Parts: sequence; structure tokens; C-alpha cells
Amino acid sequence: MTVQIPVVEQVLSANDQIALQNRSVFDRYGIAVVNFMASPGAGKTSLVLRSIEGLRGRRRIGVIEGDLASRIDADRVAAAGAPAVQINTGGGCHLDAPQVADALAGLPLAELDLLLIENVGNLVCPTNFLLGEHRRVLVASVPEGDDKPLKYPGSFVTMDAVVLNKIDLLPFVDFDVAAFERGVRAVNQRAPIFLLSCRTGEGLEPWLEWLAAA
Ligand code: MG
Ligand code: ZN
Repeated sequence: MTVQIPVVEQVLSANDQIALQNRSVFDRYGIAVVNFMASPGAGKTSLVLRSIEGLRGRRRIGVIEGDLASRIDADRVAAAGAPAVQINTGGGCHLDAPQVADALAGLPLAELDLLLIENVGNLVCPTNFLLGEHRRVLVASVPEGDDKPLKYPGSFVTMDAVVLNKIDLLPFVDFDVAAFERGVRAVNQRAPIFLLSCRTGEGLEPWLEWLAAA
């Protein structure tokens, strides 16, 4: 009598297999990796720059910048004194794990504590592609409106932290902070929510503490 043994192993996508390899590289080097996701213009690069500045002397930070085109953001990061690699997706709307694997060759991994990955500006599909990161951060901003969590629940649900940037604009915009927080909590009960302004520096300290502990 033959017994059929059911295959219960989860079959990983090609992307997720590479993501696991990336993760083992990061773990071997003792690097904590944080994947930043947001709509275009929410302030991902500004938050990366503030984080480099705020953790200078405490954490050695490297950056991978994902963009459709240009190396404007990587140049800004390099000017701030952090090693940076630009990935141009050539129109692709998210980063994937193989792109990140290729980018690692351009970073001094043995000299890093923290790697910040700025994903392509897009709140839809980047969340579906693991890169090997340990933490995921969603950056929202006041001008985008307080209904963002209700419109993109699938993005908010996977996040380890949520940043609300540009709070210096609150006096000028109809934005209900409590409604935003309720929207986040409706889909995600565990992610801390950081209210801050990269422009003025207000509220950065708790974010920096979270990032340093990542
Ligand atoms: Mg940017
Ligand atoms: Zn995409």
C-alpha cells in the first residue's frame, strides 16, 4: 500500500527566496535593515537624512535609494556622509529582493550597523515584495490627508512603525490626527505612530530612539 504524503512545505516565490538570502547576509554582518515605504513626496529621503544626522556617532548607517530614475536622492545621502547606492528601477514601481542583492556589492557591509532602504514612492505594491528587511516603516504626511490608512489598509497592516511627517503644516490643513491614528489602529494595533516634522525637527527624538533600537 502506498501512502500519499501531503506536501506541506510552503513554496516561496523567487523573490522571497532571494529576500531570505539577503536577510542571512544582513544577519551575518549584524546589520539591522529598515524598509521605508510611502507615496511620492511624503518625505522618505528627508527622514533618511534626519536619521543619519540624528544617529551620527551612535549608528553607522548605509542607504539604498530606490527610484524610477535619477540619482538625486543617493547624492543627497552621500553628501550627508553615509555610503549610498542608488537603484534605478527604469520605471518599475517597487524594489525587489534581487535588486537589493545586487546593490549590496556597493556597500561596505562590515562597517554598517543599520541599512535604510528607501523604496520607490508608491503605497501599493512595494509592501508585497520582501527585500530581507527586519523592519518596515510607512511614512505618511499631513498634506496627503488623514484618510490614508483607510484607503491603503493592505500597506498599513504589515508595518512595524508609522511616521506622520510634516506636522508643522497641521495649523494650515484640515487634518484630524485622532482620525488618522484610529485609521492606523483599525488595521494595525502594534506599530508605534511617530508624529514629527523633518523640516523643523519637532518630534524626531522618539523616532530616532526607535530606529536606534531596531
Ligand atoms: Mg526620495
Ligand atoms: Zn510595483
